[in-house]
Amino acid sequence: MTGKMISKSGTDDGRLKIAIQKSGRLSEKSFTILEKAGISLQKSKDQLLCQARNFPLDIFLVRDDDIPAFLVNNVCQLGIIGQNSLLEAQSLDPDVFGGLEQVINLGFGRCRLSLATPNGMPYEDVSSLAGKTVATSYRGLLSDFLAEKGVDADIVTMEGAVEVAPRTHLADAICDLVSTGSTLVSNGLTEQDVILNSQAVIIKNNAMPTESHALSEKLLARITAVLRAQNSRYIMLNSPVDALEGIKSILPGSQSPTVMPLQGRDDMVAVHAVCEEEVFWTTMEDLKLRGATSILVVPIEKMLD
Ligand code: ATP
Ligand code: ZN
Repeated sequence: MTGKMISKSGTDDGRLKIAIQKSGRLSEKSFTILEKAGISLQKSKDQLLCQARNFPLDIFLVRDDDIPAFLVNNVCQLGIIGQNSLLEAQSLDPDVFGGLEQVINLGFGRCRLSLATPNGMPYEDVSSLAGKTVATSYRGLLSDFLAEKGVDADIVTMEGAVEVAPRTHLADAICDLVSTGSTLVSNGLTEQDVILNSQAVIIKNNAMPTESHALSEKLLARITAVLRAQNSRYIMLNSPVDALEGIKSILPGSQSPTVMPLQGRDDMVAVHAVCEEEVFWTTMEDLKLRGATSILVVPIEKMLD
């Protein structure tokens, strides 16, 4: 993709533009997070562009590897991408991609970039790869890691199907993305060292034009609020007055619960709290043991400070 080609498609119409993966592991959840942030999308026949109906936002549907280039050329001001892809681009070309900043961790698309070796191959630590050949689609991140560890190995760059490299004798080991590990297992490989833990993130170009800045801040604030609400629960319970301190002390991730009188009861109060983390069954059981009754945990739809 050339800079010239994409800058033609970006028009200076005052609309904010975000690049997301067109089809792949990040696509559906990228759409979902925008929808949860109140963006109503106008489906179009256009393979590249999709417009928001109720927010000055255009969504560019592209290959994930192209997202950093869309940002540095200012065709888009924001993007949703795996940290692995961003950091690889920054490692290969720091001058071009160094100005892209990760602004929000989205909590999906979790995976790790790992070294793996054929089952049975002797491996103590990464120094066992000295003098060996490692196949990967992440030449930048792998060579940074090997350099940091002082290990001299050859790198073979592959676009995909890296896991077959050892079987075809193209390489002794691989460095690839892993989530469940089942692909490694079915290819007779053992995961050895994790180079990077990754998830999907929102990235922005720090050199964004000022007219995009306010829109971008507004969208990012909404997405932050969605993520906070998604991870939070509203908890309501009744507590004996003398057990209140003990109960408050184990409410998960809640700074200052609201305590209210219960009509006709001097010995009991109602406690309401926003818990910014999961409320487990074990926590509810502990609350009950400490005297709480009528414990209710409900999801929060939206949250704005
Ligand atoms: P594109 O056609 O857009 O180039 P792709 O084949 O490069 O797609 P996907 O396989 O859809 O990309 O993966 C996109 C991102 O999903 C990865 O860069 C990574 O951040 C994340 N991901 C999560 N789990 C995995 C996994 N098990 N394997 C590969 N990527 C994963
Ligand atoms: Zn890709």
